[in-house]
Parts: sequence; structure tokens; C-alpha cells
Amino acid sequence: MNARDGKKGRAREPVAARPIRTGTVAIIGRANVGKSTLLNAALGQPLAIVSPTPQTTRDAILGVVRHADAEIALLDTPGLHKAGTALGRRMNQRAREAAKEADLVLFVIDVPTEKPARPSKKDVPAELPPLRPHPGDRTLLSLLPEDRPTVLVVNKIDRIKRKDRLFALFQAYGQLRSFAAIVPISALREDGVDRVLDQVAALLPEGEPRFGEDDLTDRPVRFFAAEYVREQILRSTVEEVPHATAVVVDRFVERPAPEAMAFIDATIHVERAGQKKILIGEGASMLKRIGTQARERIEELLGYRVTLKLWVRVTPNWRESEHELAEFGYGHDAGGER
Ligand code: GDP
Ligand code: MG
Repeated sequence: MNARDGKKGRAREPVAARPIRTGTVAIIGRANVGKSTLLNAALGQPLAIVSPTPQTTRDAILGVVRHADAEIALLDTPGLHKAGTALGRRMNQRAREAAKEADLVLFVIDVPTEKPARPSKKDVPAELPPLRPHPGDRTLLSLLPEDRPTVLVVNKIDRIKRKDRLFALFQAYGQLRSFAAIVPISALREDGVDRVLDQVAALLPEGEPRFGEDDLTDRPVRFFAAEYVREQILRSTVEEVPHATAVVVDRFVERPAPEAMAFIDATIHVERAGQKKILIGEGASMLKRIGTQARERIEELLGYRVTLKLWVRVTPNWRESEHELAEFGYGHDAGGER
């Protein structure tokens, strides 16, 4: 879909009429470090879904960003994690494939919340432990193609008051791999994101543009409709429910202008009857809330009115079933419509 379909991206400085640098940039990192938040900040609109629950992103999602003289195809990926299901293994595979096919990797880490190691007594400043690389990142970095230029993005620096503490962390990561650049950012506050894009633009190879001027992503709107329903479920439920949920759009009908509206029917698949009960809620209150919030989010993307109808169905064990994974859009060759 393209930016004309919905809200415009963020205001940018005037860019060269035809980008002369172009390439794919994979955003790689552990679950929850802020990869999707970074994609959205770079795009200037909340295309990818974001939540405090790990494993929110299940597919690689492409967003096209134009910056300086470059056309940057940013590929957001599922966070690499210890996979316990076939779905989890597929997600890890997606992330590794993205790194392989990219011209450049943005390796994203986050910093922990700054809490004093021991309560500070009067006049005695609290000791803060030195910031150290996350053990999971050592493994992750070893999985990246060695020859791929990689930029280290240190996210969530809004959590750190004493920014000088970051230098030791930069140095420690610098010993794990030779990075083309190290950029501290706060994706949430959109702080430092332009600096990341400056670095990326400079590192991309010269080439012909591969996307149309208004192209925002390679995914169809119906993919995001399903994602935005899942996002509200992630935000409203806890524990197993978010992980056991898949959303499939059964019908997507658009009426062109001047009417300009869409009718969307979607099924929410869960694994157990108890999960279905939670999702529907007392007097269907939960399902109504999820539906209203998802609809508003889809309307924002499309820029016109949407009617959204939701059903909940129990599909036992879908996360382990090759057939259902394919059906729900998580198959080997997924990446298209859902
Ligand atoms: P992903 O799993 O790597 O894609 O992470 P998300 O983008 O879904 O973000 C995970 C959580 O971290 C969400 O609750 C975000 O709001 C939060 N987050 C992302 N970036 C920042 C940041 O710069 N600062 C802070 N404090 N939180 C952030
Ligand atoms: Mg994500």
C-alpha cells in the first residue's frame, strides 16, 4: 500500500527527486528492544504494531523511508528468542533470512531502566552497576552474516539519566563486532532516529529506486487490518492469550470514493475454550472494546470509515500445525496476503 492511502508520513526535508542510493536494511535484535517502534519512528507513522509483550512482531514487515538521497527499505523482523513452538521457530527463521538478504543490518539493543544498585543514603551517591552487553546479544551477533555492514542502535536511552554511562557499553559492544557506526537513540521519543537514517543513507550502495514515490510498504491493507486486531488483543490480555492468538481477515471489501469505506470480517483464532471466553468477555465487552480500538487504528491508516466484524474461534494447537500456520499467514512462503 502507499502513503496516499492514509495519513501522510512525517514531514521531511525536501529530498532529491530520484534517490540515488537504495537498499534493504534489516532491523534485528532481541524481543522487545524497540525494533518496531524504530520502524514507526523512521516512517513517521505507526504502521507496525508495538506492545510491551515480547514476540509481538511475527512477520518481517517492510517500510519504505526516503531520507536524504536514499530510498531505504527498512525490514522490521520478529525478535530472536528461544523458540518453544513451530511458530516461534518460523519467526526466528524470518529474522535470520532478513539479515541475509539485507544490504545493511541495524542491530538494536536496549538499555535497562536506571535503578540504583542500593538505596542512596544522604550525601552518598548511589552506585550504579556498569552497563554490560546482554548475554543474548553475543549469540545473536554471531548469527549475523560476517561481511554485512552493521550499525549498532542503542535504544531507550531516555531511561538513562547519566549518559556518560553509555560509553562503557559502546566499548563493550565494539569488542563483540566491528560496527560501521554506533547510534544512541530513543525510538519512543523519536530522538536520534534521523542520525540512524543519516548513517544508513551514507552506507547504502548507489542504485535505481525500487519503489514508487508514495509506496509505504509491500503489504496489503488487509494484512495490517489483521495486525491491528492482534495489537489490541496484545494490549488487553495477558499471559498465554496474546501468544495463542492469530487473526485472519475473511472478507475485505472496499467501496471507492465518494463513499470511500471498507467492510472487514475477521476471525480471531485461539487455542482453548477458556481463551475464547476471556476474549469475548462479560456481555461481549472485551470483544467490543478490541473491535472499536482496532477499527479506529485501521481507519487512521486508510483515511476513511471502516466497518469491522469479529468472530472468535477455537483452533486447538494451531501454533504447531504446518497447515494452520500456512493458513494464518505464517507459512514458509508467507509474506503476502493474509
Ligand atoms: P520489538 O519487539 O523490538 O519490536 O519492540 P517494540 O517496538 O514492540 O517495543 C517494545 C516495548 O518497548 C514497547 O512497550 C515500547 O513502547 C517500548 N519502547 C520502544 N522504544 C522505546 C524507547 O526508546 N524508550 C522506552 N522507554 N521504551 C521504548
Ligand atoms: Mg516488533
